[in-house]
Amino acid sequence: MAGKIFSGKVFLLVTGASQGIGQKIAEVLSSNLDNGSQVLLLARNAEKLKETSNKLPKNLSVKYESVDLSVAKADQLKDIVLKSLGGKKPEEFDQLVVIHNAGSVGDVSQPTTQMIDFDIWRKYYDLNVFSPAVLNGVLMNIFNNKKIKKNVINITSLCGITPFKSIGYYCTGKAAREMFFKVFAEENPDINVLNYSPGPVETDMLATISNNVGDQDVKTTFQEMRKNKTALTTDQTVRKFTEVLLAKKYKSGDHVDYYDEL
Ligand code: NDP
Repeated sequence: MAGKIFSGKVFLLVTGASQGIGQKIAEVLSSNLDNGSQVLLLARNAEKLKETSNKLPKNLSVKYESVDLSVAKADQLKDIVLKSLGGKKPEEFDQLVVIHNAGSVGDVSQPTTQMIDFDIWRKYYDLNVFSPAVLNGVLMNIFNNKKIKKNVINITSLCGITPFKSIGYYCTGKAAREMFFKVFAEENPDINVLNYSPGPVETDMLATISNNVGDQDVKTTFQEMRKNKTALTTDQTVRKFTEVLLAKKYKSGDHVDYYDEL
């Protein structure tokens, strides 16, 4: 990578770091951090988190914690972050970098007229909308010292700005989550906020959509994309992500897509 994206002592937190895009982001950003930086990886699968942590540079302090973000309350999230700090004070860090990446696609088999179960709606929004919002507030309160430069990245999607038939939970969840971070950016002009849309990336999530999506036209589009290998690799999208961060041509809170010109 040409140049430093985040310099000084950084506290980097990545949600959904056990696989897919989050795992690659953790790897690539960590390899660019200065000595004394710390990384905290969150997801449910502890084995896979351990695999990710083993790939990170040995000069960093790397911690991981298995947590179901759809049910973890603010107090539990706060404890996880404070525990990872050990005895360190938040103000010992020069920068905070948060990657809100964890997410699920939910049920993609139904048209909107069949989305009539409040419990399914709530469960979906607990993980995909409420959890990043709550975790973000917890982190901003812990790292509230003005001297700490704060960077907050939400992994969003084209689905948050373009409707796709039978992807109602995911499309609305991504739209709401992105708008939350836009409001957050407006309220905090000193914080660097980015909504990064990674393009279609060959991960478990893409396979789930392609296999299960109810609408036949959408299914064909996704299946063709996977068959023709036009979906991106995690390497490709994370390389672009770092270029976007380095070039920093976006306005805080913007939605920037993989396919956008730098
Ligand atoms: P994956 O399904 O491969 O990864 C999802 C990650 O989220 C995993 O690490 C998973 O970890 C974690 N996660 C899921 N549920 C929970 C939970 N309840 N608690 C804690 N962690 C959880 O998907 P991708 O890598 O493709 O997706 C990553 C992000 O990128 C998502 O926000 C997705 O919407 C977005 N995106 C993906 C696109 C694609 O084409 N792949 C396109 C556009 C956006 P674990 O199972 O261990 O808990």
